[in-house]
This record gives sequence, structure tokens and C-alpha cells, in this order.
Amino acid sequence: MRLILMGPPGAGKGTQGSVISERYGIPAISTGDIFRANVASGTALGIQAQQHIDAGEYVPDDVTNAMVRDRLTQPDCRPGFLLDGFPRTVEQVKFLDSLLDEQQVRLDGVMVLTVNAEELVGRLLLRATQQGRADDTEPVIRKRQRLYDDQTAPLIEEYAARDLVLTVNGMGATDHVSERIDAALARLRR
Ligand code: ADP
Repeated sequence: MRLILMGPPGAGKGTQGSVISERYGIPAISTGDIFRANVASGTALGIQAQQHIDAGEYVPDDVTNAMVRDRLTQPDCRPGFLLDGFPRTVEQVKFLDSLLDEQQVRLDGVMVLTVNAEELVGRLLLRATQQGRADDTEPVIRKRQRLYDDQTAPLIEEYAARDLVLTVNGMGATDHVSERIDAALARLRR
């Protein structure tokens, strides 16, 4: 199964991504996690990405796309994958289309987690106290939300036109959200 998980910052993509990954035996690939790991270990990629991440901006497409190509061409992605946080721009959608074409595979679905705006800020500020992410301050959170609304939310239209979108209510307890996701994926597999 080849899936994209979309939703605004704080929607719960990381949490639900790990659940889906375990349940379906596919790697969950979070571009944000890969960037943060590279920042932490001081690689060239991390050095390129850090200033953008800390400012709440997107990392440039060429950098992000190259990283995704490396990851998706690893053998564990052959049976499938779940992308969390990619694609986020029109350019990234085009890049992913051509990469999957090259591999002669296709996407099975694009799951969109919806959560209302007040809940999102609350979750991210809570996460800031727990994980201390540099980009979880209120002004940077607002900036990430604007960027999502401007650049990433419109991509849902593109995937809807391809009949790939599954919308899942991301409000409420983690377990309930996981159940809704399972139900949506079960419909997809029928
Ligand atoms: P969130 O979705 O909660 O903002 P992520 O962990 O998914 O957090 O991403 C953190 C940061 O990593 C983003 O704000 C951005 O700077 C960078 N990033 C992640 N994915 C991408 C992407 N596909 N394109 C560009 N930048 C990205």
C-alpha cells in the first residue's frame, strides 16, 4: 500500500503514521523527522535545512526531493510506504509523480486528517512543553499553519481530482482516530 498522510501541523500525522506503519507493515517516512535527525547529527543536509525549519519555512524543493528520492528507493519501500509531510508543494507533487512513474507503481490513497484551528495550536503548544522543538513557538506555529493553508492544502484538490482522497476526522482520542483511519483504509482496499 502506498499512502500519503496529509494534514496541518499538529493534526497527528506522526502519531497516526506510526500506528498505520505497524498495522500494515510499511515504513512511515516523515520528512520532518528525517530533517530533524540530520540537524541533530550535523550532516550537510541538516546544515542546509536547519535555518528553514527553525523559521517555520519549507526546506527548498530540490533539497527535499533529493532526500525523498534516496529514501523511497531503499528496498524496504518496495512493498509500500506511508509518506508523512511530503509532498507539500506543487513541485513536490510533480516530483513524486515522476518518481513513482519511474518505479512503475502508483499511489493508493491520500489520507487527510482534519482538526480545527484552536485544537491545533493547543496541541502544538503542549508538544512544545514536552519535546522542546524549536519550531513549536506560537509565532512559528502560526507561520507553519499559513504556509500549509497557502501551499499544501491546495494539493488536496489535485489528489481529489484523481479520486485518491480519504478524509478522516482527526479530533478526539488517538485510538478513535486510528479506528476511523482503519475504516477508511478498509474501504480503500475493497
Ligand atoms: P509539522 O507538519 O508539524 O509542521 P514536520 O515535522 O512534518 O512538522 O516538519 C517540520 C519542518 O520540516 C517543516 O516546517 C519544514 O521546515 C520541514 N519540512 C518537512 N517536510 C517538508 C517538505 N515536504 N518540504 C519542505 N520542508 C519540509
